[in-house]
Amino acid sequence: MGLIRPTLPPPPLNGKGNLLMANKERELAALLPGSDPPRGRLAALMDRFVSPFRRGVPPATRPATGFYTDTTVCIGCKACEVACKQWNQLPADGFDWTGNSYDNTGELSATSWRHVKFIEQFKPSPATGEGSGSRMALDLVPSPPQENRWLMMSDVCKHCVTAPCQQACPTGAILHNEFENVYIQRDICNGCSYCIAACPFGVITRASFDGHSHKCTLCYDRQKDGLVPACAKACPTGSIQFGPVDELRERAGKRVEELHGRGVPGAYLYGDTPSETYSGLNSFYLLVDGPSVYGLPEKPFNPWLHMGGDYVRALVGGLMAIGALALVFLFLGH
Ligand code: SF4
Ligand code: SF4
Ligand code: SF4
Repeated sequence: MGLIRPTLPPPPLNGKGNLLMANKERELAALLPGSDPPRGRLAALMDRFVSPFRRGVPPATRPATGFYTDTTVCIGCKACEVACKQWNQLPADGFDWTGNSYDNTGELSATSWRHVKFIEQFKPSPATGEGSGSRMALDLVPSPPQENRWLMMSDVCKHCVTAPCQQACPTGAILHNEFENVYIQRDICNGCSYCIAACPFGVITRASFDGHSHKCTLCYDRQKDGLVPACAKACPTGSIQFGPVDELRERAGKRVEELHGRGVPGAYLYGDTPSETYSGLNSFYLLVDGPSVYGLPEKPFNPWLHMGGDYVRALVGGLMAIGALALVFLFLGH
């Protein structure tokens, strides 16, 4: 008996003009799960011993892809967080209330590769003297004077062009893939956590359940099939925009100009271009307040920039220790 493929209703038009992409998703969902043809035991045994020493053919380089996140249109719905968990089969983190915020995710972790930050900026009410519980007009992008507002920012790995996490990894588990995205090969990660110390954005976390480091993959599996990453696909406002980084930079620049023209002079891009101390970010942001307000470093610094001095100091220290030992042996020998 032949296998029956699910019959799907025609896809709805969603007004964004991405019908083609929706069709592609449906086609892929309808495909039958593939499997390798059966092999003999000898062939499987040979494979086991020979495969680790085979040098694979690297995939052809593609244009760098990334995210441009326009925080001014984020509504804090957290659809991106949920879509990321669903697609990547990441478990829930419990139902704990932080008690400090409507944001109960708290931070990026090994099981939360997206985190929508809520930055709640409320002035104390003159009547009650309290910052909450009183009626206030809330604007996401208020015109000055900026009294009370909620800033929302969907945080994720920045997929740094020069990534300190990748530079620090001693096993080669972290690499830039063909889309120039930073990817952790979890089977090669030995859990040493050097990458965690090296990342200036506090992105990577080591999981207690498997001892490996985890973070956003920029949906490598979806990209390989020509799909948009799950979080960008789910975002209802277009706050998370995915595509070739050059196009995103152009689009983001125009949006900044538009915001300036609409009376938001504080709008600017964070990480779109390299600075003296850090490379550009393939996942960059449009912000309307200082980076630290969003929990981002004001001036990210690649730790490798001062590692040269550390190596020289270690070398000099080692040579001095050897010299001291040689002197001790010299004098004790007489
Ligand atoms: S943000 Fe951190 S984890 Fe992501 S690529 Fe950059 S250094 Fe690595
Ligand atoms: S790109 Fe994929 S893995 Fe990364 S945050 Fe979005 S959904 Fe999660
Ligand atoms: S899905 Fe879009 S609008 Fe909703 S929280 Fe994420 S970035 Fe913001």
